[in-house]
Amino acid sequence: MKKAVLFLLAGFIGLILTGCAELERVNMDYYGVSGGSSAKAKPGKTGKATCPDCKAPLTYIQDYQRWYCDSEAKYMDEGFDPNKRATPPPPAPKAPPAPPRPAAPAVKDPCPNCGKTLTYIPDYQRWYCDSEGTYMDEGFQP
Ligand SMILES: [Zn+2]
Ligand SMILES: [Zn+2]
Repeated sequence: MKKAVLFLLAGFIGLILTGCAELERVNMDYYGVSGGSSAKAKPGKTGKATCPDCKAPLTYIQDYQRWYCDSEAKYMDEGFDPNKRATPPPPAPKAPPAPPRPAAPAVKDPCPNCGKTLTYIPDYQRWYCDSEGTYMDEGFQP
C-alpha cells in the first residue's frame, strides 16, 4: 500500500518537474528569439555600407539619422539602408502631391482679393465678387 502511494507521488513530482522544465525551455526560447531580433534591428557596421551610386564607403550620421557619401558629399535618401540593398523597395510612383488649391489655376476672371470667380454685371458695367459681395472698381478688368 505504501509503495503504491510513493509510486504515485513520484510520478506526480515527475510530472511537475517535467512541466517546469518545459516552461523554462519555452522562456529561454522566447528570450533567445527576442534578443536576437533586437540585436539585428540595431543599425551599425558602418564599415560595410557602400554607396549605391559610386560604391564608396558610407558614413552613418547619427544626428541626421541618414547615410552620408563622403565621395560625393551627399546624403542618402531618408530611410536608406545599405544592408537592404538586395531587396530595394519598388520606386515610389511619381504621384504628384495633391495641390492645396487645385481649382485655383482654373478660376476664370479671378477676384484680386479672394481669388474667386468674378461675375460681370452688364447693368452696372462692373465686375462683382459673389464671395465678398463687393463690386470691383470702375474700369477694373480681371
Ligand atoms: Zn556616392
Ligand atoms: Zn473677392
